[in-house]
Amino acid sequence: MALVSENYLRPPTERARMDQVFAPWRIEWVKREDKNPDVKECVFCELPERDDARENLVVAASEHAYVLLNNAPYNPGHLMVIPHAHGGDYTALDDAALLDHARLKQRALDALDAAVGPDAYNAGLNLGGGPAGGSVDDHVHTHVVPRYDGDTNFMPVVSDTKVVVQGLAETYDALHEAFAAQPDASDPGEDTAVPLDFD
Ligand SMILES: [Zn+2]
Repeated sequence: MALVSENYLRPPTERARMDQVFAPWRIEWVKREDKNPDVKECVFCELPERDDARENLVVAASEHAYVLLNNAPYNPGHLMVIPHAHGGDYTALDDAALLDHARLKQRALDALDAAVGPDAYNAGLNLGGGPAGGSVDDHVHTHVVPRYDGDTNFMPVVSDTKVVVQGLAETYDALHEAFAAQPDASDPGEDTAVPLDFD
């Protein structure tokens, strides 16, 4: 009886921490869009079109999808696998886009294993808008979040802005190197996303 009561009285951040894994970036993406007048209507259509992939955190790209590092990572290595085609309906993706998106997720996991070696992963989609969905609800994106044993205790430390920004550049370089070492990939230079050809 006492144990049950204590569990329910634990802070929501602790009790429901798995539910909240996908929550923090919502706020950050909204802030980013508000603050940056250069971002066009859809940030996920715009970012891979820019010249400097490193500056824009686009680390790898295949024919139908690309990999974007989250600019407000839940954990080091937090990235998103995003179809090039604009649209918020996952069930509307055609077969080519679905397969390519899935293969790129596999490659992203391989690259993360090599680059940051986490203890586990959470991977998933936020579909739909409003408080229950994500901040970008009109362009499908799969979050891949590396998890580390004890990382909920670690988070207050890495949440410091300076640490996160420094970590992003280092993580980008490590992931870029890991993608470039994969089969059928080549190193295009540090300012260009690694092209991956699955066929
Ligand atoms: Zn879009």
